[in-house]
Amino acid sequence: QPPSAESDSKRPSSAVVESWREERTRSVEDNEMSLPSLAAAYTSILKGLGEDPKRQGLLKTPWRAATAMQFFTKGYQEKILDVMNDAIFDEDHDEMVIVKDIDIFSMCEHHLVPIFGRVHIGYLPNKRVLGLSKLARIVEIYSRRLQVQERLTKQIAVAITEALHPCGVGVVIEATHMCMVMRGVQKMNSKTVTSTMLGVFREDPKTRDEFLALIRS
Ligand SMILES: [Zn+2]
Repeated sequence: QPPSAESDSKRPSSAVVESWREERTRSVEDNEMSLPSLAAAYTSILKGLGEDPKRQGLLKTPWRAATAMQFFTKGYQEKILDVMNDAIFDEDHDEMVIVKDIDIFSMCEHHLVPIFGRVHIGYLPNKRVLGLSKLARIVEIYSRRLQVQERLTKQIAVAITEALHPCGVGVVIEATHMCMVMRGVQKMNSKTVTSTMLGVFREDPKTRDEFLALIRS
């Protein structure tokens, strides 16, 4: 087991470590208050697209779209601290823990269209483990925000590192960006793969290879 001082020095700089301190930027009450203005904005969008917002099929569209967009970004209503409560256990388990094929549905912050795909997470515990369902909850909180795939990948890895101080963490995301698929090159099956490796996953090729082999199996 690495001494804690050593693993501390390998943790990401405080500049990227924000998951525990971050505040909710939206509440359920905020949702209710902002719904009318969001819906009005969607009415403008419909007009701007050359549509008639008064035509029957579109009458309720601004409200539906506003409500849907709030749902797609509900990660702003949660913070990582809520998820971690009561979910970290002391355990002498020292084998790699892997959860793969976690579905994600996110929104590209450059085009406001969906990103969807799968996340694979692995970590090597250092006396602490996290309830397995909580890994998926961390993914959910960060993915239900406006994102770029690189940041999403790193945020998940950093949150797990902060929570558990494990020997190492690996996160791989394979995702399809609708902004790439529907416009520009229009490559139907193109996928973007990003990864963040921390601790022994970064330093030890054997550990990293074991992780990559297990998520592909
Ligand atoms: Zn995009």
